[in-house]
Order: sequence, then structure tokens, then C-alpha cells
Amino acid sequence: MAREIIEKKLADLPVVPNMVDYERTRAGFTWETAGTELEGLPVGRGLNIAHEAVDRHSHCPRRDHLALRWLGKQGEVRDFSYGDLVDLSSRFANVLKGLGVGKGDRIFTLCSRAPELYISALGTLKNLGVFCPLFSAFGPEPIQERLSIGEGRVLVTTEALYKRRKIEELRKSLPRLEHVLLIGTKGPSLPGTFSYHTLMAEASGHFEIPPTDPEDMALLHFTSGTTGRPKGAIHVHQAVIAHYVTGKYALDFHPEDIFWCTSDPGWVTGTSYGIIAPLTHGITSIVDEGEFDAERWYRILQNEKVTVWYTAPTAVRMMMKVGKDTARKFDYRNLRFIASVGEPLNPEAVFWGLEAFGLPIHDNWWQTETGGIMIANYPAMSIKPGSMGKPLPGIQAAIVHRYKDGTVEVIEEPDTQGDLALRPWWPSIFRGYLRDEKRYRDCFAGGWYITGDLARRDPEGYFWFIGRADDVIKSAGHLIGPFEVESALMEHPAVAEAGVIGKPDPVIGEMVKAYVSLKRGYGPSESLKMEILGFARTRLGPAVAPKEIEFRDSVPKTRSGKIMRRLLKARELGLPEGDISTLEGEE
Ligand code: ATP
Ligand code: MG
Repeated sequence: MAREIIEKKLADLPVVPNMVDYERTRAGFTWETAGTELEGLPVGRGLNIAHEAVDRHSHCPRRDHLALRWLGKQGEVRDFSYGDLVDLSSRFANVLKGLGVGKGDRIFTLCSRAPELYISALGTLKNLGVFCPLFSAFGPEPIQERLSIGEGRVLVTTEALYKRRKIEELRKSLPRLEHVLLIGTKGPSLPGTFSYHTLMAEASGHFEIPPTDPEDMALLHFTSGTTGRPKGAIHVHQAVIAHYVTGKYALDFHPEDIFWCTSDPGWVTGTSYGIIAPLTHGITSIVDEGEFDAERWYRILQNEKVTVWYTAPTAVRMMMKVGKDTARKFDYRNLRFIASVGEPLNPEAVFWGLEAFGLPIHDNWWQTETGGIMIANYPAMSIKPGSMGKPLPGIQAAIVHRYKDGTVEVIEEPDTQGDLALRPWWPSIFRGYLRDEKRYRDCFAGGWYITGDLARRDPEGYFWFIGRADDVIKSAGHLIGPFEVESALMEHPAVAEAGVIGKPDPVIGEMVKAYVSLKRGYGPSESLKMEILGFARTRLGPAVAPKEIEFRDSVPKTRSGKIMRRLLKARELGLPEGDISTLEGEE
């Protein structure tokens, strides 16, 4: 799969990266030392995410620096300095305290990427609550389920969503949900709710963070539900050390950066990197409330002078679908670094970045469970397109084989496929799945955290994603990762997106089948199908190439943009669809 390597030379980079020499930084790295770059609460009172994100900047010139620029759907702009965030998050912490809500209580949000969401997150953390963001497009059922599993005590939402998602009804089955705060209502609130703004206006802007144990629960994040029912992963305050370190090395934050993370806080990326990491570095973040629109995005990159951009393969593929000519209409002279996470980044997409923005796209890998970036392509390290890169300093990754008896063998032989495993400990590793202790324990074996993804490591230490253990296709004695097939299909000029599954076959076990959506200007036809099948066969050989192709307008994806192969398969086989609460487009 590797095409040419994209060589990096220090002299060509616009700023000197925080990590110039990967091996040297790795050799000298310890989490203890990294932790000393954070401030900690005043003497002996522990470590709190919100202190590191906002309060720590309140007694230095960063207080007046722009922390968040919010871009509304209708073109509104609201700016928040670090000082503003200190004040507003303290008010929210006082609102919670006034309601009798305290340590360990779960505060859920259900709203668009509104400023109040960011303020609620930080205020919750100050008051030692647990922040649980929900994606605003969730329907009543997924909302009910998550609030119930997470034992939500407070919900911050809008009047419109409160009505549309029938939350008043849901509350009958949620006895622990005591308080609902509605954003946007200024007059009398609906029965049983408070106006967020009234409470905020009445609260004091001074709040002293209570002593915080680094192991205190801080965040509850539900996984994307790509492979099954979403799990609630628990994270603690000291995860902030990993957020800070990954901001430094994997996203290469510099003090004057303007950073844009396009992910919604309903997914872990939108919290770890849409809220926490950039604030710990005292830099400016752009928050766009609008949904994906290629031209809108390009205009934001240009007008806001974005320097570091963190996005997702699904967005890149949508941009590719629109074409690079649209991208080239805008000016990206400030943009320095582009990174992507969430799904395999097809080599085609890495090169497309070069053509559209003059910069390659840097893939990185992590999971809700890891709390932060674990494997990445760093600014100063040459890129092998299609590879996730190398483990973060402080992270030991390996390819292992897990035997049924629970023992684990580390596979040293390069280029061998196996389970991708990480060696605990690091500060942001999840501390459990809420109310699912067994599932949590099953993730660990032989002193390793087994990620559930399959990968290989090449002789130079780069990791290559093969597939999720659940998605791998077993065909005529071969193990085939859908990603490899999807990437090859995407090299065909007509293909916009591809989702590949194994369809049961009496002779070869499973047969590779591809669902393909086409780029603008191409229509489905029998001859195009034959052409793409032939193209894939030349690229992949007959054993790996798809035997069947079906055209679709789009491929089913989670709201966080991951191809839901399990759903393609269930539909192919006429089986129950399982949990589709996170499916894009379903409400
Ligand atoms: P669930 O666990 O509920 O099935 P999910 O695994 O999709 O959902 P997330 O934690 O949001 O939930 O996603 C993490 C997963 O996304 C990884 O385990 C991996 O399969 C995939 N992933 C993330 N980044 C990359 C990447 N750079 N390359 C390949 N796969 C990636
Ligand atoms: Mg997962």
C-alpha cells in the first residue's frame, strides 16, 4: 500500500516543532516530568483539569488572550478571553453548588456547539462534577439510555431540544435527574426547569476549586458505537497531563496558534482536543457551530487564519468529493499543520491535502478509552501515507497475540499482523466502563491493554492499521482488513467512499463485498462496476479484491464519521441492525 514517503526536513518547516527528534524525546520522556509542566492546584490541593485549562492563565498576561472564538450558524461571532472563561466557568460552578450539586455528580449537556457547552464543561470540572456531553442530534432513546447509565443529576440543554426530544416525558423514568437548565430562555422557564442565563447572572464569578485528587472522576464519554452498543468510558482529572503532552507533540501547539478542532464534544475528540488540550496551552480555539460545508470550512480556515487544524477522514473524503478546485479558491497561508483522527486515513487523502492545501494530512490514532492521542505522525517525522505513525513518547505500543487462556505473546517480527496493544500506565487511560466491570477487565491481558484493533508494525517502527478485530474478513485462508480494500477502491477516480464487508460464502468462508458511493459527475452503471472491480483486482490481486460491488448514495456512518460496517453486514444478511443510536441521519 505504501506509495512514496513524504520526507520531512526541518529547514522546510515554517516553525521549529516542539519535537525535533522523535527518538531523543522518547528516550528522555517520563510522565512524572511531563506533569511538572502543568501548574497543579496551590500547594497540596491536587490537579484539576479546569485549573490547568483556564484558572492557571488568570494570573498572567494570557488572561486577556483570546481563548475561544465562537462562530454561530448564522454568521454571529462571540469572543471569549481566558479571563472571560475564568469568570463564566466560576459562575457555572457556583450555579451547581447553589443547586446542591457537588463532587462526583454527573452533569450532562445536550446542545449544539454553543459557548454554554464549553462553559458548562469547565464549570462542572471546577465543582468536581463529571462532565458527560451528548451529541445534540440524539433522539429520545439514546438520551434516556445514557442519562440512565450515567446517572445524570443535571442536564444542560435548550428549550427547543427539551421539547423536541420529549425530555419532560423521559424524566419520569429518570428519577436521578433533578435539575434541567435551559439555554436561550430568558423569561419564565418551563415547569421543572431553570433558565441557565438567569442562574448565571445571579451567580458569583469567584470560585475556589476544592482539593482535587488526580484520580477523581472528571469525564464520562460514550464510545462511538461503531462495533456495538456504546460503552461509557470513565476518565479522571490527571488525564489533563496527556491532553497537554499530546497538544505539545502530536498537534505541535505554539503560543500564538489558532487551532480548529472540527469534532463535536459529543465525541471524545471534541472534548479532549475541542476543549481541554488547546486551553492548557493558552492558545486560541475556533468553535464552529455550523455543520460540515466544504466552502464554509475553507472560508473559516482562511478568515480565522487557522494555523493548526484537527479534523477527520470522513470530512476529508467529503472535501475530496467536492473537488480540489473549490479548496484552491481560498488562501491558507497561515495553516501550518493538519491532523486527522477517527478512522483510517487513506493514502489518497494524505496526498489530497498536499494538492488542496499545500500540506499533507497527518493521521493519528486513539480511542475513547485511551483519552488522548497514542500513535501519531509528528511534524518533524517523515510520513508513510497510510500509516498511523509512531507511539507518543511515554507510550509503549506493540503487536501481540492474545491466547484463549489469557496469556499474551508480543510479536517482535515486523510486518506481522496482530492485536494492537498498549502498555498501561498513562494518565488518560480509562479507569473503567461505567456499570460494566467485566467488559473493562476483558480489555486487559498479560499486562497489556488490548485495543480491539488489528495492526502491524513495520521495520522502522511505523504502525499500520488493519481493521477492527470485529471487521476483519476471513476469505479463503486470508485475513483481509477492510481498510486496505477501501483505500485501493478510493484510488479509482470515480469512487468517493467505500465500505467493505465479508459476506458469508460456502466455499471461501467470506467473500469481499464493497459498497461504493461515487464522486460528483459519475453515475452508477454496470460498465463502471466492472471497471472498478478490474481496477481493484489489479491493485490488490484476486484473493483480496472485492468480488461484488454495490453502489450506494452514501455509506452508513456514525455521527462521529466512522463507517458502520456491522450495519452494512446486518443489512446484507437481513439480520437485526443492533444499536443504531449513533447512526448518522437517524433521529
Ligand atoms: P465502539 O467502541 O463503540 O465500537 P468506536 O471504537 O468507533 O466505537 P471511538 O472510541 O470513538 O469508538 O473510536 C476509536 C476507534 O476508531 C479505534 O479503536 C479505531 O478502530 C478507530 N480509529 C481511530 N483513529 C484511527 C486511525 N487513525 N486509523 C484507524 N482507525 C482509527
Ligand atoms: Mg471502540
